[in-house]
Amino acid sequence: MDQTLKVLFIISEAEPMIKVGGLGDVGGTLPLALQKLSDRQETETELDIKVVIPYHDHIKQLNWPVEWVINYKIQNRDSFLDVYVSKTLNTDIPIYLLDGEPIRNTDIYSSDTYVDAEKYAFFSCAALELCRALKWTPDVLHAHDWHTAFGVKRLAQIRSFDRLFSKTKSLFTIHNLPYSGGNHPDVLYRYDLQPAYDPAIPDGMRSLPMALGLDSADHISTVSHTYAKEIKTEAFGHGYQFFLQNHSDRVSGILNGILMEQWDPSTDQTLYKNFSAESLDERIHNKRMLQQELWLPQKDETPLFVMIGRMTYQKGFDLCIQALRQMRDLNWQLIVLGTGEESIQKACVALANEFPDRVRVEIKYDSLLSKRLYAGGDLFLMPSRYEPCGIAQMISMLFGCVPVAHATGGLTDTIKDPEDYPDAYTGFLFADTDIQAAEWAMRRSLTYFADKPQWREIQKRGMRQDFSWEKSAKEYIELYRKLSACPASSD
Ligand code: ADP
Repeated sequence: MDQTLKVLFIISEAEPMIKVGGLGDVGGTLPLALQKLSDRQETETELDIKVVIPYHDHIKQLNWPVEWVINYKIQNRDSFLDVYVSKTLNTDIPIYLLDGEPIRNTDIYSSDTYVDAEKYAFFSCAALELCRALKWTPDVLHAHDWHTAFGVKRLAQIRSFDRLFSKTKSLFTIHNLPYSGGNHPDVLYRYDLQPAYDPAIPDGMRSLPMALGLDSADHISTVSHTYAKEIKTEAFGHGYQFFLQNHSDRVSGILNGILMEQWDPSTDQTLYKNFSAESLDERIHNKRMLQQELWLPQKDETPLFVMIGRMTYQKGFDLCIQALRQMRDLNWQLIVLGTGEESIQKACVALANEFPDRVRVEIKYDSLLSKRLYAGGDLFLMPSRYEPCGIAQMISMLFGCVPVAHATGGLTDTIKDPEDYPDAYTGFLFADTDIQAAEWAMRRSLTYFADKPQWREIQKRGMRQDFSWEKSAKEYIELYRKLSACPASSD
């Protein structure tokens, strides 16, 4: 090992303390994967990584064991604000929990964008100042999504005169571009943050936190190669496409991984019956129990579709709902698990009312049921209109539930369709974002399902995929190394 690379990793969620979506998976598992690589001395670089998240009320309610680390103050234009920092015990690596007035008595994400802007501006600026309090100089600030973009901007503004950060570089990872944060110039003013300068960012968007992060990061990454290309187009760029095209050399994709041991049907104690690629016969017990538990006819031969996720327009549930209506001539069952927008919940319930002997809808967040669905379903529907990476499709493959998905972002990068991989396909993709395309792919998948030996091969190939963080974590370390070796520029 030739050096120690210090990384300040700031993010709004990290499991197991807090997970709202895939961001929480990344916050909890990527730092762990990075640390493991470093501990096993598999890279030339030793890592010293500090993960910092807000001490959300939700985490306090868990009574997670923590130890106090330090208190300090940060200054904004109005006043000095107290910052209280604790550190988790009983986690694989310690997570720094940052607390203060703008964080207290708030939801993880508020429906009021002003409350969120204040909370995350405070969090991001205070997280940078934690380095000063700890007398620890980071080589790289790795920030994620709009919530922590304020920190990227602040770093760019201060490093020309602030010796602590004079050599610190920033990496800004986009997990979901359309979520830009609220437009609140007065919050920026209060925290002394300038709007984005770049002329390729539309005027009305310059004060959005996402714009701040993009404009001032030394490097921008996103969570799959395909999404890195898609965000440079009008359809996926949400107004940032010209900026991203102009700065193409600063934009790259690194696919998210998952903790493979966390998603292993051969050991998972919550399943009705464990199974592996070598004992696929056992898997059917999970389907039977699931059908029984949800009062569906217990039929092995009836293909069971499952759909799990946040009920938002992004996830495209509506496409499959309508496609299934048009497939009433075929034999199928469907179980939906999710929460979210009322109109989508209603659309799912309407389908269940229309097909009472075929469709079940569970409106809730339920990790246990989600695993039983991955283990018992035959086909996993993921018709996302866009999907920066997505982990649900990876989990479904590892559990032998074959994905049928829209060919976008990380879905394109992780699912192999028979047309492109005639000898190695793991699922089914459709190119156009419409009901006909979804229906065509679902019908196509059912013809494969009908051929049992062939279906087993698809399941086995999916279950043997390597979605671990290993490769991606190495790519992040390489990027950190490259960044830290470049001379710093100032804003
Ligand atoms: P996103 O981050 O956009 O929500 P991902 O596919 O990256 O989508 O991650 C979703 C994760 O959340 C998966 O682990 C999925 O199983 C889980 N999940 C989503 N909705 C539910 C739910 N209602 N109950 C249980 N788990 C859920």
